[in-house]
Amino acid sequence: MSLRFAALENLNKLSESDFALKPSKKITAIFGENVFTLKSAREYLSDEAFKSLASSIKGGKKIDRAVASQIANGIRSWAESKGVTHFTHWFQPLTGTTAEKHDTFFTLKGDGTAIEEFDGGALIQQEPDASSFPSGGLRATFEARGYTAWDPSSPAFIMEIGNGLTLCIPTIFVAYTGQSLDYKAPLLKALAALDKAAVEVCHYFDRNVSKVTPTLGWEQEYFVIDASLANARPDLVLCDRTVFGASPAKGQQLEDHYFGSIPERVYAFMRDFETESYKLGIPLRTRHNEVAPSQFECAPIFEEVNLAVDHNTLLTDIMTRVAKRHGLRVLLHEKPFAGINGSGKHNNWSMATDTGVNLLAPGKTPKTNLMFLTFFVNTIKAVHDYADLMRASIASAGNDFRLGANEAPPAIISVFIGNYLTKVLNEVEGRVGEKFDEQDEAILKLDLHRSIPELLLDNTDRNRTSPFAFTGNKFEFRAVGSSANCANAMTVLNTIMAETLRNFKKEVDSLVEKGDKREVALMHTIQRYIVDSKNVLFEGDGYSEEWAQEAERRGLPNVKTTPLALDAMISDKAKALFERNGVYQHDELEARHEIELEKYIKKVQIEARVMGEITTNYVLPSAIKYQNTIINNIRGLKELGLGENSYKSQQKVLQRISDLIGAVSEDVTNMIEARKVCNNIPDSREKAIRYCTDVKEKYFDKIRYNLDKLELLVADEEWTLPKYREMLFLR
Ligand code: ADP
Ligand code: MG
Repeated sequence: MSLRFAALENLNKLSESDFALKPSKKITAIFGENVFTLKSAREYLSDEAFKSLASSIKGGKKIDRAVASQIANGIRSWAESKGVTHFTHWFQPLTGTTAEKHDTFFTLKGDGTAIEEFDGGALIQQEPDASSFPSGGLRATFEARGYTAWDPSSPAFIMEIGNGLTLCIPTIFVAYTGQSLDYKAPLLKALAALDKAAVEVCHYFDRNVSKVTPTLGWEQEYFVIDASLANARPDLVLCDRTVFGASPAKGQQLEDHYFGSIPERVYAFMRDFETESYKLGIPLRTRHNEVAPSQFECAPIFEEVNLAVDHNTLLTDIMTRVAKRHGLRVLLHEKPFAGINGSGKHNNWSMATDTGVNLLAPGKTPKTNLMFLTFFVNTIKAVHDYADLMRASIASAGNDFRLGANEAPPAIISVFIGNYLTKVLNEVEGRVGEKFDEQDEAILKLDLHRSIPELLLDNTDRNRTSPFAFTGNKFEFRAVGSSANCANAMTVLNTIMAETLRNFKKEVDSLVEKGDKREVALMHTIQRYIVDSKNVLFEGDGYSEEWAQEAERRGLPNVKTTPLALDAMISDKAKALFERNGVYQHDELEARHEIELEKYIKKVQIEARVMGEITTNYVLPSAIKYQNTIINNIRGLKELGLGENSYKSQQKVLQRISDLIGAVSEDVTNMIEARKVCNNIPDSREKAIRYCTDVKEKYFDKIRYNLDKLELLVADEEWTLPKYREMLFLR
C-alpha cells in the first residue's frame, strides 16, 4: 500500500478521544515558570550578583567575570531545582533555524570525583564548532572558530528537548575576528543605534527620557496538516512546500474556513503549544483561523524587539516539536500550496520611552502631538529613503511566491497612513513657505487627540494591501515572510530609523542655530520631510496593476525576485548607512549577501531536484500503470470484436496521457541540463539570477501544469501522492 493510502486509513481510525483536551491550567499559574526572570534571580542570587544582572539587563552593561560565576551558580541551582541536567548556548545562526550544542553540568574533578558544575566562563562564552554554519566566507575553514556570547538582555530558559530538560542561554554568535555570524548581534546593535538617536530627538519634548526601546508584536501565520499525509509527499518533507498538486474542487472561495471554528485536533495542538509557550514566557494572546483552509494565525502581546524576536524563533521551534506529538505537521513556508493564500508574519512595530510613552501614538496636547508627528514623519522618510533595503530585508525564495501574488503586498514598498493623517500631512505641507511662530495655529491646532475616533475608523478600515501600514499607534510591516527571522526586518527598520532621526536632529539644530524657535524649526523640518517623502505614501489598492504603473511613474523600486532584491544590501549607500550606525561592517554585509544568495540557490536547487524525482519516481510510474489498464481494456474490447466506437474515448485518454508524459519528461530533462549550466557559474549573484530565470521561471510552472493535468487524468487509486483536498481538508 502506498504511504498515501496508509495515511488516509490512519486518519479514518482517529477518534476524538485521540486528541481530547488536557485540562488546562490558568495561564497566570504557569506563565514564565521556565524562565530565569528577575524574580527567580532575586531568589537564587546574592545581592551583588542580582544587582549586576539587573543593571546589565537594563543598561546593557557588561557582566563582570567575577560576578558571572555567582550568577552561573544561581542559574544552575534554579535549573536543577526543576530537574535540568544539561545546558546549551542557544543562538540563531543565519541558516534560519536555531542552534544548540548541549553540555552537561556533570564534570570530573582532578581526583576523579564527579561533580555538577556550571561556571561563569561556561555561562558567558562557548565555542561551538562554527564550521558548519554559514559565514559567507568570513571564516576560511581552517579558521573555523567562532564563539557564542551570553546576551543578558534575553533571559535564560528551560526547554524540553527530547526527553530531557535543557537550560538554554540566549547568546549571540560571532567570529573570532569579531564579525557577527547570526541574526541577533546586528539586531542588538541596531536597537542601540535607535535608542541613542531617538532619545536625542525625544529631548526636544521631554528631558526625562533616557531610553527608547523599539517594540515588536508579530502575527504568525502557518498551516497545519496531518503528519502522515505530509510524510507521504517528498516535496513537503524536503521543501516544506508542494511543488505540484491539482487544485481541489473546493479551495478558499467560500471563505468558510476564516469564519469557521477551529477543528478539534488542531485546537488540541494549539492549546498544547500555547501551554509550552506560556511556560517560556511567550505572551500569546490571539489564535484564529486564516483565510486559506488549514491555515491559522497566532499573535502575542507586543514586547521589546529583542525579546519578541527570540520568542518568535522559540515559538516556531515549539510549534514544530509539539505538532509531532499530535501527529500533525506545521508548515511555516510562505507558499506551501498554490492557488490558496500563503503565509506571512506581520511585524507590528513602534517605539516606547522609559517614561511610558508610545512614540507612535498621537498625544493629548499640541506638544505631545508634535512629538508624535516627528516620529511618524521620520518613519515615513526612513522608509522612503531606504525602501530598497526594506525590500531586501524580506527577500527569500519562499517570499517570492507570495509578494505581489494578489494575496500579499506587492514587492513595491509603500506606506499607508489612512485618511485622517493624510489630511493632517496635507495641511502641514500646505503651509510650506509660510512663516509662523511657536504660538501659531499650525502647531497649536495639531489636536490629534480630538480626532481619535477618526483615527480609529482608519485603523479598523485599514488597507490590507499595503506592505507598511500605520495602524493607529504603530506601523505594521506586512510583507515579512512567515518563515523569516523577524530580526532581519527589524535590524533594517531600526537602523534606517536611527539614521533618519539623527539627520533630522542635525537639521533642526542648524535651524535653531540660525535663529528659529525650536517648535518652528521642528515644524519646518517636518514639512520638508513630508515633501521629500510623500512619493512613498499610497492609500489605494496595492494589488492593482494601476499601482504598479503609478509606482513606476513615481520611481519607486519594484524588484520582484530575491537575487536582485538582495543587491540593495551591498550598495554603497547601504554600506555607509550600516557602518555609520555601527550595525554592519562592509565585510559583514558582503558575507550576508553571499549567504542569502547561497540560501536562495540551494532552495531552488532542491525544489528542482524534488520536482524531477516526483515526476520520474512517482507520477510517471502511476501514469504508465494506468495507461496499461487502459491498454488492456482496449485490447479486450478489440478481441471481443466491438467496434472502434467502444474504445475511442479510451484511446483519447491514452493519447492525452502519453502527450503529458512526453512533455514533462522532456521538461525535466531540460531542467536538469539548465541546472548543470547554472552550477558551473562561479559568481553567486549571477548563479542565483540564472537559477531564478533559467530553472525556476522557465520550468517550474510548466512542469507543474502538466503534472497537475496528469493528476486529474490518472485513476485515483493509482495515484500514490496525497492530493490537495486530502492535505487541506482532512485532519
Ligand atoms: P490585528 O492586527 O489583528 O487587528 P492588533 O491591532 O490589536 O491586532 O494588534 C496586532 C499586533 O500588534 C499584536 O501582536 C499587538 O501586540 C501588536 N501591537 C500593539 N501595539 C503595539 C506597539 N505599540 N508596538 C508593537 N506592537 C504592537
Ligand atoms: Mg495585523
